Amino acid sequence: MRYDPRFRRTKIVATLGPASSSESTLREMILAGVNVVRINSAHGTPESRGEMIDLVGRLRDEVQQHVAVLVDLQGPRIRVGHLSEPLQLAEGAEVVFAPEGNARGSEIPTAYEALAGDVRVGSRILLDDGLLSVETTRVSGDRVTGIVRFGGVLRSNKGINLPDDHVSAPAITDKDRADIELALEHNADLIGISFVSRAEDVEEVRSLVGSGASIVAKIERTEALSDIDRIVQTADAIMVARGDLGVELPFEEVPLTQKHLIEVAMRNCRPVITATQMLESMVRNPRPTRAETSDVANAILDGTDAVMLSAETAVGEYPVEVVRAMVRIINEVEQAILKDGIPWGRYKGDGKVRESHEVEDAIALAAIAAGQSLNAPLILCVTKSGFTARTIAANRPSTPVLGLSTEWATCRFLALVWGVLPIQADALPSYETLLDVARGKLLDRDYVSTGDRIIVTAGVPFEVPGTTNLIKIETV
Ligand code: PGA
Ligand code: MN
Repeated sequence: MRYDPRFRRTKIVATLGPASSSESTLREMILAGVNVVRINSAHGTPESRGEMIDLVGRLRDEVQQHVAVLVDLQGPRIRVGHLSEPLQLAEGAEVVFAPEGNARGSEIPTAYEALAGDVRVGSRILLDDGLLSVETTRVSGDRVTGIVRFGGVLRSNKGINLPDDHVSAPAITDKDRADIELALEHNADLIGISFVSRAEDVEEVRSLVGSGASIVAKIERTEALSDIDRIVQTADAIMVARGDLGVELPFEEVPLTQKHLIEVAMRNCRPVITATQMLESMVRNPRPTRAETSDVANAILDGTDAVMLSAETAVGEYPVEVVRAMVRIINEVEQAILKDGIPWGRYKGDGKVRESHEVEDAIALAAIAAGQSLNAPLILCVTKSGFTARTIAANRPSTPVLGLSTEWATCRFLALVWGVLPIQADALPSYETLLDVARGKLLDRDYVSTGDRIIVTAGVPFEVPGTTNLIKIETV
């Protein structure tokens, strides 16, 4: 099959920040290929974040693409408090942590009261993305004493990670609750939960969000790995949040953990985002390093649904060029794998993602097989909730999938899903109307030519989600 970049399978998530929040830059980034815009709740004010969500909405209407908004909650991120000037921590030196407001002299203030309750003698306190490390030697009252193992300069507000201990801070903070409300008010599509430990954390956010948005569980704690199947099944999508994960885990464990998480997500038909430092050097340079291009390519070969840009687009000097670089790498890799066969081989006619006796799985596999054997230009998946489109996509078909839905929320969720191009349709009263509407849209956009055979999956009646029960082969 000839590769058509309009059907790029791997999606791109880009983080907004000072470098990218002007209308013209963001428009260029979207036109270059951004599918999901991430807004980090750890930065800016509620007003500025609300404006950013609205800006994405305006540009989405202008360029007529289903660009989704992911509002990423800060979560229980523990931080160093305010330092009047940077502190030099020398290797072997003794340091004392104390709650901010209570810290004296050279003590390190922490914006986290419960530190002394959470750490134990021998456990590590990592600072500034794990660049600095302190080993706890004594806990007394609200003071924690330790020896610096890896030294360096410590600045105000740097993050603290406690990889050896259970962090008692609630998974969802008051700030997170306010940020969820803001996200829903402005019609964000996805809400990211930071530092998920257990499936219950996801359930808690779900109870606040209802059906107002989909939930992305960010996997960035070792604790989450032991409950991963339940977390994945409770969430709508996951993120391999390598930034914090690489601090909590020894860095050498990140690559195989990434592969494992992608595998679990695919098996459960949930989209997965691979995140952080993918093209990091492009924060300063117009071209990526060879190691970075390999990292993006390898994430695609692992089967990720989406790759993410963080600092590269939030504060980098080349927010548009970095998106273009990502697209170039994706196109090159996809072209090769579609020609030679998808290497993770989920669906080869004999294999499938999971053992299942569900109708959706049977239809998904049949649609993929038919698409392959007829060399169809696309599978048209009529989907209310997006479930069938996700199921087809999780089998990583070589045929592109068009997700036709009457629901804008579904279209925007599908913006994140591998291999699915969302299209919105007004009411679909009957199968015949559906086919007419679809035929018009597909021909208009030049996705098919008259006489092409396409595979259609749908559920009748249309209004009821979860009723996919039909597969047909139609000639356009
Ligand atoms: P963050 O999450 O950028 O919000 O910290 C991603 C990560 O930790 O990799
Ligand atoms: Mn993180």
